[in-house]
Formats: sequence, C-alpha cells, structure tokens
Amino acid sequence: MKPGFQCQLVNDPFGDPALYVEFLFQKRAVLFDLGDIHALSPRKLLRLSHVFVSHTHMDHFYGFDYLLRVCLGRAITLNLYGPPGFIDRVAHRLGGYTWNLVENYADELVFMVHEWAGDATLRRCRFPCRKAFVREPMPEVPVEGGVLLEEPGLSVRAALLDHKIPCLAFVLEEPQHVNIWKNRLEEAGLPKGPWLQHLKQAILRGEDDDYPIEVRWREGKGHVRYISLGELKKSILKIVPGMKIGYVVDALYCPSNLGRLEKLLNGVDWLYIEAGFAHEEAEPAARKYHLTAAQAGWIARRVGAKRLVPFHFSARYQGEADKLVEEAVAAFRDTGVFDGVITP
Ligand SMILES: [Zn+2]
Repeated sequence: MKPGFQCQLVNDPFGDPALYVEFLFQKRAVLFDLGDIHALSPRKLLRLSHVFVSHTHMDHFYGFDYLLRVCLGRAITLNLYGPPGFIDRVAHRLGGYTWNLVENYADELVFMVHEWAGDATLRRCRFPCRKAFVREPMPEVPVEGGVLLEEPGLSVRAALLDHKIPCLAFVLEEPQHVNIWKNRLEEAGLPKGPWLQHLKQAILRGEDDDYPIEVRWREGKGHVRYISLGELKKSILKIVPGMKIGYVVDALYCPSNLGRLEKLLNGVDWLYIEAGFAHEEAEPAARKYHLTAAQAGWIARRVGAKRLVPFHFSARYQGEADKLVEEAVAAFRDTGVFDGVITP
C-alpha cells in the first residue's frame, strides 16, 4: 500500500533544516521546521496548512518572513506549532513590520499559533492580518500523549527534548489503511453498500473484534444480518499499517532525551534525524547540545526505525558528507562502537 504523502528535504544536508510533506491528491502540505525555504516554490508554500517548528534558533525559523511574504493578502489560515516562548517569537517577527494598510484587504491571512511545553495543554493565539497581526489569545486546548494535531487521515505527535532550550521532535502518522477484498465480498455472498464505510470507520475507531456490524441488503425487503468485526477482518479485509515519519533535530544525547525519543519514534518507517558532527567530535557536539552521526544511528536502531535519513550536517564537514552518512549507517546497523552516553 502506498503512503498518502511524499516527503522532501528542502535543502541538502548542509542547508537549513526543513522537511516538506505533501499529501497526494489533496493540494495540501505540512512543513517541519522553517529554515531556508526559498527552494520551495510559492505554489508549494501556498499548500501549507500546518508548520511545526522544533525551536527558534535562526537556522530553524529564518524562513518565517518568506512564508509571510508569499501568503500575505491571501485568504489563508496557517497553523504554526512550536515550543515554549513560540507565540512571543512569532509576535516579535510580525511586529517588525509596519501594517497600516492592511485593514481593508479583501482576503485575510491569519496565523493560528500554538505553543506546547510538553504538558497537557496547548496554548494558542490568533494573529489576523486585518488587525495588523495583533495577537488575540484563544482558549487553551487539552493535549493527550503529545498529540498536537489529529484529523481523520493524519496525526502529529511531539516530544519535548533538551537542547539547552526546549526543542520539539515530531512524528507524523497516517491511520491504518483498511482495504476490502472485492472478490472475497462476492464469495461470501455479502452486498456492496454504505455498511462497508461503517465497517471501515469501526476499525479506525479501534472497536473490539466482537463489535457487531450491520450488513443490509437492498434486495429482499431490506434484509439485515449482524456479523462480528473479527469475522469480517478474517474474511474480507486487508489491514495495512499507516506510514510513520519521525523528525528529530538539535538534541543532546542523554538518558532523558533517549527515553522520550524511544516513546515517540517506536517503529517509525522513516527517521529524519540530525547527524551534525562526526563521533570523534562527541564532546564539542555535547557541549552544543547536538547529536553526532553515530548517536543518530544508535537512536534509529533503538527505536526500531526502518529507514534512516541523516541530515543537518555542520558546515565544518563540507565535502565530507559521506563520512557522516557512513558513520550513522554503521551505528544503525550495529557495526559501530560502544553506545556511550556523552554528557556536556
Ligand atoms: Zn538549535
């Protein structure tokens, strides 16, 4: 089963971090981090509905102004998410411009800015263009299990990591794909009809196997039969797990971060993770609260990632990208050295 989205690192591994995730057949995309995003066309930027920012060090947030420039004057509500202090950071960026001619814009750009501190609450503020982007506080909403966004076809969870400042790591997940074997439906003598949608929804809701599904025939005066979900799973359904993408940048290799990443990233299909330094530089990396390439590989192995994409390389390794990739891959495949925790 193909995933319902495509991922693209916006820049090469030495460029600013930004991962563009485009949903197939929807003209919609989400972005992880807002580094240098000039390589994305305005057409692609205008598809963004949600932008998740790990932290506001400049290389992760510098693209905000370009995004604002492209979206200004259009009827767009753009949802931004970030760590503690994020709402103030966005307010300061918007406050850096003069907005005296925007009150009559026919189409209004609105930023809905969300801030999460790793707890059970999502703080929110609205920044509407026609009111000169002055912040309007919104009611807080509850957060369970780090889930920042949940829609029928998509969820995004986060974990708060230690980068000497709070830094968010993210996982984007699709729900499982529920497919119906049409030939088996016929063989079982079951009709097509709206009941198949109810069946799919019951699975996505996580109902138990003994949950009864009403099967209704149009012919025969609306004949009805109840069949258990478990029986239908065995006879006519193919259930494929959804794709899971992990995004991790700027973090110290320490027990608390590892524990949080294990919980967040368990079984990811693709792990995009910073591999900023060679492991021989583990001490300076730790002093800067960054991961080495080997540490990125060890994390990928610990969380059971299926594929690893190391990126966000330090400029000091220009021309030596292969060295960092090979080190990360060796650790991922468990051919590396001792998985030692380095402290700053
Ligand atoms: Zn940083």
